[in-house]
Amino acid sequence: MMRFDVLTLFPEIFDAALGESIIGRAQNNNLIEINTVNIRDFSQNKHKKVDDYPYGGGNGMVMTAQPIYDAYMSIAQASGYRPHLIYMSPQGKTLTQKKAGELLNKKHIVLLCGHYEGVDERVIEEIVNEEISIGDYVLTGGELPAMVLIDCITRLVPGVLSSAASFIEESHSEGLLEFPQYTRPYEFNGRKVPDILLSGHHENISKWRKKQSVKRTLLKRPDLFERLHMDPKEVEEDFK
Ligand code: SAM
Repeated sequence: MMRFDVLTLFPEIFDAALGESIIGRAQNNNLIEINTVNIRDFSQNKHKKVDDYPYGGGNGMVMTAQPIYDAYMSIAQASGYRPHLIYMSPQGKTLTQKKAGELLNKKHIVLLCGHYEGVDERVIEEIVNEEISIGDYVLTGGELPAMVLIDCITRLVPGVLSSAASFIEESHSEGLLEFPQYTRPYEFNGRKVPDILLSGHHENISKWRKKQSVKRTLLKRPDLFERLHMDPKEVEEDFK
């Protein structure tokens, strides 16, 4: 079973968002476990304060080191080892499908959600194993990024999706975007489903889908396409 512990000031956010659909079922089927830990519960301050003004001045508040450190250490002590701690941060490496696949091997991950201006640097130095960003933009807190990361890893856990093929061919798994998908009805507002998909010829369908993947990657995400270093002859074939 894959286990996630989330260190957050807002645990309620997670119940609603991760309790439904595929992620909810994965928890009910004991394929994953998600626990939230309220950082405030570990504050030694008599008013349960968890933030303070930044040394050196400047805007906003900074999350103090002690409650975060103690919250993490309580998990480490109960587990008997120090689980991999990821700080969700706009300064981290950007999350990719490949990275999600690598994290699947960790089995037990703790996610730290920052707020305000972020967390005291010394807590990062002391306990954080890596920082992960979900994109080059800044959000108000690490809760949404943590949910994105949990969702992305969870759908790779064996048994969570009905078929492993669902993610073998999909966007980003092999550097290509997925081919277009169609479902009933056959005709919608005068637009018909491509005939090849009704042919029942699996080999031809598979070739057509591969071509569509290459084509749409080139058109929609030329940056990804360049990284594929595809043989120009092969690409020419795809556009015939
Ligand atoms: N002052 C920080 C900076 O400039 O790097 C930004 C702090 S941000 C307002 C508050 C928290 O939101 C961060 O501590 C982090 O946990 C989370 N966060 C914001 N944007 C994020 C992103 N793109 N990816 C992951 N976490 C993010």
